[in-house]
Amino acid sequence: MSSPFSRIRVDFRGIGPALSELDDFVVFTVEPPWSSCKGLLARPPRETVMVGEVDLETLDAYTRSVPHARHAVGLGGGRAIDAAKYFALKTGCKFISVPTILAADAYLTPKAGVRIDGVVNYIGDKFPDVIVIDQSVIGAAPKRLNRAAIGDIYSARISLMDWRRARDEVGEEYDEAVAKRTEAVLARLMSLAPEIKDVTENAIRALVEMHMELNTLQFPYLQRGKFWPQEGTEHLFFYTLEKLVGRPFVHGDVISTGAVVATYLHGEDPERTKREIGSFGVDYTAGNIKITHEEFEKTITSMKRVGREAGANYLVVEKGNPSQSQIREMWELISSQ
Ligand SMILES: [Zn+2]
Repeated sequence: MSSPFSRIRVDFRGIGPALSELDDFVVFTVEPPWSSCKGLLARPPRETVMVGEVDLETLDAYTRSVPHARHAVGLGGGRAIDAAKYFALKTGCKFISVPTILAADAYLTPKAGVRIDGVVNYIGDKFPDVIVIDQSVIGAAPKRLNRAAIGDIYSARISLMDWRRARDEVGEEYDEAVAKRTEAVLARLMSLAPEIKDVTENAIRALVEMHMELNTLQFPYLQRGKFWPQEGTEHLFFYTLEKLVGRPFVHGDVISTGAVVATYLHGEDPERTKREIGSFGVDYTAGNIKITHEEFEKTITSMKRVGREAGANYLVVEKGNPSQSQIREMWELISSQ
């Protein structure tokens, strides 16, 4: 079976040319960026839905009330993309993903984040048919929301730590060639740090290509309930925090916080992780993601349970909870740049 990622077309021509080819479509979007994007469309959508909360009731109501067009366009950040993805999943139409920030790779993954009873669940699976990248629209967003794109790439460094531990401790199957390709992506990421910090056009294209490559490498493992080589313990930190506090976060920022924590848990050098993430201008501190010490401690001590519920093997948290002094050290690591 060929990878579904190889069937996704990535259209770098921008919103105007890409969407002018659609004859029948509805748009799910948010404000910003809708006001500054709608003028780029050659013809109006059948309906424009301004997405509020992405809870199950709201999304199911869209499925009933919004016209079943041939294409659902998700134009914006996470909520717009998730709403269009869910609509396309339920109605069977094509899904056109138009991210206007790159803070997470959800614009190319098959799962939609949907709130059920206040807790985010990830429901799949609907791959985009086309991803439209408009460099001038993305470039006009606050830089920090695009720098955060590194979260879902840098995560691969932690994922490799997880994978090697699994190989060494429980004899997990390990593919040297996949690991090498992942390391090449990480090397490319680090070489682009100044450009990514400035969010140049070249950086935007490269971030999309790296998201695509890592998700393609990850896909066969996902089929077997594994997350390498793209996600690791840093994502477990994110999912646990999200479950516990229920607030929305900038995905890549929290993934970066999680990367510092996970590096520490692995017994590797967290200062290197801080330095590397800092070189992109990404702020991984607790102050930036606005979490309290209490929330942090609860997250750390709940990761093992949440990991088990996800059916995944996060060996680094399996051994038991970190001690109070370790939690204090980690808190200090994420308390300053
Ligand atoms: Zn992610």
